[in-house]
Amino acid sequence: MTRRRPLELRARLAALESSGVWLRPRQEMIHRIKGTQDLLPGQIEKWQFLEQKARDLFARYGYSEIRTPIFEETELFSRSIGTETDIVQKEMYTFIDKGEKSLTLRPEGTAPVVRACIENNLFAGSGATKLFYMGPMFRYERPQKGRFRQFYQIGAEVLGSDSPDVDAEVIEMLVQFLQEVEILSYQVQINSIGCHQCRPQYLAALREKIAGILPRLCGDCNRRAATNPLRVLDCKVEEDQPYINTLPSTVDSLCEVCRDHFLAVRKALEKQEIRYQINSRLVRGLDYYEKTTFEITSDHLGAQNALVGGGRYDGLSQCIGGPEVCGFGFALGQERFVLALPEKDYSGGRLQIYLAPLGPECSEYAVALAARLRRQGVPTFLEFESRSLKAQLRQADRLGIPFALIFGLDELQRKEIQCRNMRTGSQTAISSDIESLLGWIRTRE
Ligand SMILES: [Zn+2]
Ligand SMILES: [Zn+2]
Repeated sequence: MTRRRPLELRARLAALESSGVWLRPRQEMIHRIKGTQDLLPGQIEKWQFLEQKARDLFARYGYSEIRTPIFEETELFSRSIGTETDIVQKEMYTFIDKGEKSLTLRPEGTAPVVRACIENNLFAGSGATKLFYMGPMFRYERPQKGRFRQFYQIGAEVLGSDSPDVDAEVIEMLVQFLQEVEILSYQVQINSIGCHQCRPQYLAALREKIAGILPRLCGDCNRRAATNPLRVLDCKVEEDQPYINTLPSTVDSLCEVCRDHFLAVRKALEKQEIRYQINSRLVRGLDYYEKTTFEITSDHLGAQNALVGGGRYDGLSQCIGGPEVCGFGFALGQERFVLALPEKDYSGGRLQIYLAPLGPECSEYAVALAARLRRQGVPTFLEFESRSLKAQLRQADRLGIPFALIFGLDELQRKEIQCRNMRTGSQTAISSDIESLLGWIRTRE
């Protein structure tokens, strides 16, 4: 039965074709959505490089990968990120599905990971759970350089430990990551924004001070002053800066627990010889953070200069209905990392051999030879159409393939193949048996 199906399908397609259904008028071109991008060959190698480096490094620190769905119940994000944040108010891709449920394309990765841990009982064992993820996130933001509405993050979470050593180890791992991808110019900035014990008093003091300077501040600050005063510290408007600098800082208002924690993080970083700055205005945009927040910035990137950001979120699990579990994590923006990477060749595993059969009578042999080479692990390119030798060599050059194997009927009768070094143009005849060819190829690797 199953073997007959393709034939039936082909017959139906042929019938459609002869009926003229395929002869449609020229249609208007459909374009990609604003704020999205196609990642093309030539660019994608940098992305793969980053992902591979991250997988290797995170594994060395004991992290396992987790993949959560791209959409979740809207409430997962509104409850955890905070209903008064810009993300929830303005930037989420939220829609009602056919089951009348409000769903949202994930704007960030932490809440889904914590949700998945609760649901799959990953907290059950003792000790910390270390997870990393990578993939697309979605926010309806104004597109600008290095910022997209579908953007890609690599992130990691450590769940189940409130030790300041967790905070320091994550930051140390990220500094190591930057070394390994050769981004050598960066600054580590840290802050503590207090906890549910000490933040209410701080916020009260902050509100009072903001009220005194409110007429001097920008529209965003005025809006945030009422709903999310911590975010006023985040304002980037230049005229606001002298006034915002007079506001009380979170680090001066910490309770004893938070102060000790922050001090221990700093000491641990210093022991690892990691240079950092304390940035008391580093509050991050999401409600679930408490105690440590951090960012790693780079001068390469202009105003949008944060490469990585993260922090501690000890209350997040409970906020979405889970047990009391501490957490610390980060997310890095792949678009910005790609911009900051040094310019060099990121293409690994490139094509090595170009097969140039001379004439259609050699094509059967060429197909078999390509298959044998590929099975032996040799990346091999073979054209589908029969072309002149000149055209084939030009194509090999264009693809940057270092060696071409050239053969016509004459060569095959003599059981020979011409092996050409594309860079020097020199050519040698090699016996056409696979062992000799592989030997020749491997001495050139
Ligand atoms: Zn505190
Ligand atoms: Zn402002």
